[in-house]
Parts: sequence; C-alpha cells; structure tokens
Amino acid sequence: MDYEVLVVGGGPAGSSAAIFLSKTGITSCLIEKNLQFDKPCGGGIPSAGLKDLDLLDEVKKELSFNILKKIKIVPPFSSPIEVSFKGGELFIFERKEFDSFLRGLAKKSGADILEGELIKIEKGKNNIESTIKTKAGDVKKIYSKYVIAADGVNSRVCSLIGIKKTQYFWTVSFHMPKLDINPDSPCEFWFGSSHASYFYSWVFPGKDYFSVGTGAEKVTLLRGFIENFVKKRFPSISTLKDFKLRVYKIPRWSKRKFFKDNIIFCGDCLGLVMPVSFEGIYYAMKSGQFAAEAIKKKDLTLYEKLWNDRFGRQFYIMKKFQDYMFGNDERIDQWLNIHRDPNIQEIAMALWLRKEKGNHLIPLYFKAFGSFISRIFKKHISNS
Ligand SMILES: Cc1cc2nc3c(=O)[nH]c(=O)nc-3n(C[C@H](O)[C@H](O)[C@H](O)COP(=O)(O)OP(=O)(O)OC[C@H]3O[C@@H](n4cnc5c(N)ncnc54)[C@H](O)[C@@H]3O)c2cc1C
Repeated sequence: MDYEVLVVGGGPAGSSAAIFLSKTGITSCLIEKNLQFDKPCGGGIPSAGLKDLDLLDEVKKELSFNILKKIKIVPPFSSPIEVSFKGGELFIFERKEFDSFLRGLAKKSGADILEGELIKIEKGKNNIESTIKTKAGDVKKIYSKYVIAADGVNSRVCSLIGIKKTQYFWTVSFHMPKLDINPDSPCEFWFGSSHASYFYSWVFPGKDYFSVGTGAEKVTLLRGFIENFVKKRFPSISTLKDFKLRVYKIPRWSKRKFFKDNIIFCGDCLGLVMPVSFEGIYYAMKSGQFAAEAIKKKDLTLYEKLWNDRFGRQFYIMKKFQDYMFGNDERIDQWLNIHRDPNIQEIAMALWLRKEKGNHLIPLYFKAFGSFISRIFKKHISNS
C-alpha cells in the first residue's frame, strides 16, 4: 500500500482532511486536478469558524483578506436592515489564495500533494486502487486503505462508484474590481424573486473587489436574475460584458450516506452547505477533520456521529425552514422584518457567527421568532 489515505480534491474539505490526518501520523496523498483553480465563491468565513479549526492566527499572518463587521439585509419589499456583528467578524478571502494556503499547511504537516485527476477507482481485496492522470500526462496508480472523496459538487468519485451526486442550486457570480471598497462596507444579502429564487443575491466586499452574484434552482434563470440584480444594486452599470460571469453549482443539502465501504465523502461532495445561509467552507473543513478522526479511530461510523452531534439538528431544521420560507416573497419579507428586533438580531448573528453553539441556539431563535410574531399579532388584534 502506498498510503493509508488517498484524498481526492484539494479544496477546503480535502486539505483539512489531509492536515488532520498528517497531524495524527496517518500517511496521505492529496490529489488536486488543478492547483490554480479559483473556485467561484464569496470567500466568506466567520472568524469563529477559523478559531474553532485553530487557524485564526496563522490565517491572519499569512493571507490577505477583508474583515466585515456588519451585514445589510434587503427584503423584497421593505427597507434594508443593517446589523452589526457582536462578538464575531466575517473574513472575506480570495479562494485561490485560501485553498493554496490550506494545501500548503497539509504539505507542511506531512501529506504528499500531487497535481492530477482521479479517473478510475477499483476496490481490491485489501485496498483501493485509484488511477490518476497527472498534470504531466502520466497515468499513475495509488493504493490506499481509504479514499476521502472531497471532489466537490460535481464529484467524480460519486460517478465512478455509481452513487447519486448531491442535489444542487445554480449560481452565477463575478468579481467587480473597479469600485472603491470602504472598510466599513457591509456584507449584503438581497432577497426577491425578480433577481433570485430559493436563494439570495449578494455583494461581498473582498480586499480589492466585490464578489457579486445570485442563485436559482434552474440554470436558465441565471442570466435574467443577474442582470436584474445589477440594475437594482448598481444602476450606473449598463452592461455586464466587462465582467467575467461564472456559473457554478452549490449543494442543496439533504441527508446522504457518509461513507461507502472505505470511501468517505466530505464537504460539497456530501452536500454540506448550510441551508438558508449557503455557507459551505467551514462545514467542508469540519467534515475533513471529523473524517480524519474517524479514520484514526478505525471506526467510520464515528464520522457521521461526530457530524450529527455537532451540526445534524441545525442542518435539518434550516432545511425545513428554507423549504417553507424561500420561493415566496411575502413570507420572506415578513421573516426578514422580524430581524429589526435587536433580540432576534443577536440570536440570528450568533447562530451564524458562533459556530460552537448552533444546536443550542436554533430553538432559541425560533422561540424568539414565535413570541415576536405573537406580539405583533396581539397588537394587531388590540388595534383593530
Ligand atoms: C458562487 C458561490 C459562492 C459561495 N460563497 C461562499 C461563501 O462566501 N462562504 C462559504 O462558506 N461558502 C460559500 N460557497 C460554498 C463553498 O464554495 C463550498 O461549500 C466549498 O468550496 C466546499 O469545499 P470542498 O472542498 O468540499 O469542495 P471544492 O471547494 O469544490 O473543492 C473540490 C476540489 O476537488 C477538485 N477535483 C474535482 N474533481 C477532481 C478529480 N477527479 N481529481 C482531483 N481533483 C478533483 C477540484 O478541482 C476542487 O479543487 C459558495 C459557493 C458558490 C458556488
């Protein structure tokens, strides 16, 4: 056997898995088909997520980023709501730089990194035989006890072993480099069916550019949506032809198998993007960490257990909430307006930004939400 683990995909999930494996002395090789890949992404990660992964100090030293301290929510019909983050910040990274930094950490911890694409995978008697086409054009075989599939929403591993890929939404996004970026700019979330469906449109101010984008359940809706959004948000921009628009899928979370035989699924490949917020980087990294822990203990069922104990309930409830709330402008408008209440703002921001408390905060959020609605309802009755 060449390695104990072959990690397929060098995004946040794969690199994190390789880092945590190496830290516990487990040999791994990470293959990435394109080390220059710049994943279309807003690049937003809450500081608490980086702290939880023990990366905050290193990231601050090594990478360039923008730090955002507030968000602006724009409901479909009502006026915008600005909310300052208390006890947390949102970092905005360039994905190419962030991914390469993580792979660098994996290498430093002891993992081998190979630029190549997985093209075939076969189960042997005592190991898994993976065939890789390297960047240089050679074909190489790697034998390992385990394979971590961290190859994203379009997972080749899933296709090769005959497992259905994760469900997804479509996004279109681009970087707008020419505007001045004020350090106080908020992270913007715009809702409304004229420019997004089952999704929101966003403006994330990075260090030297704005990430602008939107999402939909059908790819054919994207062009009209992004044109409508840009017209609404940046009325002085008359054409999109100066920008490089990129279309990419983002997982629509649903419950899936965490592993099959000795092949373990992580990150987008497993659909681990939080419903409603569509945040996936932190969760991809945590899945890599949990998968490594399960391999170390030689108990793959531990992976699903660790995940469910920490995030299972939150993903499940947010999915139900998303299914009910999204796709109806009136409902979304009412829901967002509830966030004018400072108590609800605080719980909602904590839920998003303070990673360790998700499961505990969800019921509080819905309780606050419920009592706010009943207060409004009572007021309405007594006024009429
Ligand atoms: C437009 C957009 C905006 C987003 N904004 C945010 C955001 O602001 N914050 C946030 O938290 N999340 C965001 N997300 C989600 C986030 O990008 C993903 O959840 C995250 O990248 C998942 O990491 P991953 O490692 O699982 O997969 P990926 O980052 O997709 O990495 C998979 C890697 O596998 C490689 N690969 C694929 N096939 C093979 C193969 N056969 N052999 C070898 N290598 C292979 C790919 O080249 C790639 O590098 C956004 C997503 C989109 C589409």
